[in-house]
Formats: sequence, structure tokens, C-alpha cells
Amino acid sequence: NLLEFMSMETENVVARLKSSGLFQTKGLIGGKWIDAYDGKTVEVYNPANGEVIASVACMGDRETKDAISSAYDAFSHWSKLTAADRSSRLYKWYNLLIEHEEELGQLITLEQGKPLKEAIGEVVYGASYIEYFAEEAKRVYGDILPSPMPDRRLFVLKQPVGVVGAITPWNFPLAMITRKAGPALACGCTIVIKPSELTPLTALAVAELALQAGIPPGVLNVVMGDAPKIGKALLESPQVRKLTFTGSTAVGKKLMAGAAETVKKVSLELGGNAPCIVFDDADLEVALEGSLAAKLRNSGQTCICTNRLLVQEGIYDRFINAYSNAVQSLKVGNGFSEGVDQGPLINEAAVEKVESLVHDAISQGAKVVVGGKRHNLGLTFYEPTIISDVKNEMLIARREIFGPVTPVIRFKTEEEAIQIANDTDSGLAAYLFTNNIQRLWRVSEALEYGLVGVNNHVSFSQVAPFGGVKQSGLGREGSKYGLDEYLEIKCICMGNMG
Ligand code: NAD
Repeated sequence: NLLEFMSMETENVVARLKSSGLFQTKGLIGGKWIDAYDGKTVEVYNPANGEVIASVACMGDRETKDAISSAYDAFSHWSKLTAADRSSRLYKWYNLLIEHEEELGQLITLEQGKPLKEAIGEVVYGASYIEYFAEEAKRVYGDILPSPMPDRRLFVLKQPVGVVGAITPWNFPLAMITRKAGPALACGCTIVIKPSELTPLTALAVAELALQAGIPPGVLNVVMGDAPKIGKALLESPQVRKLTFTGSTAVGKKLMAGAAETVKKVSLELGGNAPCIVFDDADLEVALEGSLAAKLRNSGQTCICTNRLLVQEGIYDRFINAYSNAVQSLKVGNGFSEGVDQGPLINEAAVEKVESLVHDAISQGAKVVVGGKRHNLGLTFYEPTIISDVKNEMLIARREIFGPVTPVIRFKTEEEAIQIANDTDSGLAAYLFTNNIQRLWRVSEALEYGLVGVNNHVSFSQVAPFGGVKQSGLGREGSKYGLDEYLEIKCICMGNMG
């Protein structure tokens, strides 16, 4: 019986995590695990079966204000450590994350649902940001410029911005935190993290490992619970000098407006509407493998997932045939089961959203090629689905689906493909498959996106700048460019000694 099996699985995973000290349910403020001041808690569910995994502290503005004060106090010490000292603590944190990749992966699968293999992949990917920025911590330096005055110099100094507020989503509960905390701590900033209320357990385990690694009390704090209250406290505090957010475009816009009051630096990683363009001259195998991978990660719940598959007419029948065969062979199930390709969606509301977009498209003339309905495994499962005859005006091609559905649009010319691809308010990731070198450059340059995969689903990593244009966001995460998001640039005009 699946339910019994999963309850046992939950108990086993929780027991293993408890024995490593990684099963935390309180917030972390000033290095101490703290209950909500009014004792309120909120439940965390396993999306695969709706089972309650834990009750965690449900915090609000008072706890957030205290977390900000702790981060503010810790900043004066942390920012003055040598870069080498900060670096070695970040390395310890990285090593602990990797040492615990199995348990952390299990925790992600338990509260987020993705297949265990993908969850462990997220731990390795997320940890790589801590390792990368442990090294980059040593490379924060400025410049010396010539002065317009004789015998003088201008010094450019890079300094940490101060306290950072970080708000993160549920779809990558570990990596979205390390992608922010890595560069922030490397620069000498301190941080108050608010993870998604749907996946706080992974965030708390990551924070516990930061403590074990010797990240001093107050440098990294976690508060969770009432998102609007926590958000408001972060936005209103003049001590928080930077807000970094990953999540939906709607919430990102509100936060950006709120940050204006105290003129904070803001980075936003928001929603996408990725086109994946397959040209007639593409290698069928390469295009098939790449476009499937671009769609299917995390059951389609990734901001860079293909939202529209554009296929040129000459290759259309062959490609859709091969794509359909591959999609039909996917194994759907509980993320802990062996060989599962697609887990549940995060909750029933997510399934309802997918369902309504598919119904709307069908009512407008789109056709189901594969799937097209809920999966009989449970309320949070949806069948891997392909729908054809989609028009770019349909809701399904304009909204972020965030589920295992591929809408297909047929096109004739390169100009038409570019026009359709760019006809959206989003601009995060795009993909194209072609063997024509001129087309490869022409189309890559014409696409209004921050990330372009060419004959490749994704090659983004800690060394590469990640981020979107248009309403997909502001700023970049990862790479040397990501470091600058946490630094202020000061110019010192040096005169002569008397
Ligand atoms: P969401 O916007 O609903 O929530 C994100 C975070 O914001 C959560 O922690 C939530 O509690 C918090 N939040 C919600 N309302 C708030 C408020 N009023 N004040 C302060 N905080 C508030 O998004 P989600 O459903 O958790 O995540 C999915 C979205 O994230 C998708 O749109 C996806 O594309 C996007 N995403 C983007 C990237 C990227 O790098 N561009 C990466 C992952 C996810």
C-alpha cells in the first residue's frame, strides 16, 4: 500500500535527519533556535500524499525585527574578518552540505516532492555556490584610478552592502538559498532568510550546517511563517540594505515597490515563459534530448522550464512523434520510488492551475497529443502532457504553466519563430536547436532573454551569470557578476599628506 509505504518512508527519513541534528522546526535568530513568540506553528506537508511531516514555528514581524537586529550586530564583526577567514568557514559549510547530500536530498523529496535523484542533484548544485563564493570571497577588491589633479589618486573600494533580506521559493528549497547566502556571506554581508512556508525544513537544515561550519551567531538567520508580515518588516527596516528575492513576478513587483521607501538595492529572479525552438536543420537526437530535459526537471516546476515548444514545419511530424514516445515512457510516482522521472506537483492548487490552462487551450482549439488530465496516483499528480495546435495568444502560452505540460506551436520561418518567442513579458531562459552556425548566432542575439541554451538544455552553473530580462527580473546570481549584487562601490579621493 503506497500510503503505508510513504508513512514509513517519512518516519525513516525524519529519524535519520534527527540523528544528524538536521531536523529543525524553529526559526534561527542570533544563533539560537527560537519558537514563534506567540507559540504559533504551521504544518508542513508531503506533497505526494498530503501527510503532515512537521509543525514549524510560524513567525511574523516581531521575530523578523529581532533577526534583523542580530544580523545588524553580527555585521560589524563578520564584515571585518579577513576574506581568508570567511572563505575557510564557507568551505567548511560546503563540505558539510556535501557530506550530508543524502539526508538533505531526502528532506527535499519529503517536503517538495521531486525525485530523490534530482533532489540530491539540487544539493550538489546548491552547494557548488558556497564553494565557488568561498573562493570568490578572496577576490573582492577595487581599483586605483588616476586623478585629474597632479600627484593624487582615486581609490575605488568595494564594501559589503550590510544586512541582506532574502526571500526564496519552494521549487528549489536549497539552491535558491545557497545562491544568495554564498555571495552575501563571502562579501561580508549578514543575512535574514525567509524560505517558502511550503518548504522550510530544508532551509533550516542548511542553516544548522552553517552553524556547525562556524558561521558566527547572527550572520545567518532564518524566519518563516507569515510571509506578508515578514516581508513588510524586511522592507521597512532601514538596516536592511539589500533585498534579494526569487519567486513569482506578482510578488516580486510588490516587493520592489516596497523597497522604494528605504531605497534598498534589489535583485529579483522571477517567473519565465521559456520558448524552445526546434529548427528543421536541427539534429533530431540532440533536439529531442535537450528539449525534454528543458521541460521535465522538477515535474516542470522550474522557472527556466520550456513553456512553449516551437517546432518548424519540416521537422514537425518526426519530432513530435519522437517527443511523444519519450513523454509516454516517463515513470510518474512518489519521488522516493526507484526510477521515477516525475513526482507530484507541490499541492492541489498547482494541479488545478495546470488543469485550467489545459482546458482553456482545448476550448480555444488546441488538441491533446499525450496525457491531458490528472494522474490516478493522487490529488497532486498530473499526467505528462503534450498539446498541439497552440497559438501564442492562448493563456497557456502566456502564463507560466509550472507543470508537466508541453504546449506545441508550429512555425514556418525563422523570423516568425523569433517574433513568437519574444512576444511575452518574460525573458528568463530560451532554447534553440539548429545546426546552422549563422542561424545559431543570429537567433541567440535576437532572443530577448537572459539565458539562451543552444543545442543544449541547460549549462548554467555557479560560474555563469543567471537571471532574466523584461519582467523576469533584475540582477544576476552566480559568477563574478553575482558578487557585485552584494557590494557597494565607494570612491576615495586621496589628497597629499600635509
Ligand atoms: P511566490 O512568489 O508565491 O513565493 C516566493 C516567496 O515569496 C515565498 O517565500 C513566499 O512565502 C514569499 N511571499 C509571498 N508573498 C509575499 C509577500 N507579500 N511578502 C513577502 N514575501 C512573500 O513564488 P513560489 O510559488 O514560491 O515560487 C514559484 C515562482 O518562483 C515561479 O514564478 C518561478 O518561476 C519563480 N522562480 C524563479 C526563479 C529564477 O531564478 N528566476 C527560480 C525559482 C523560481
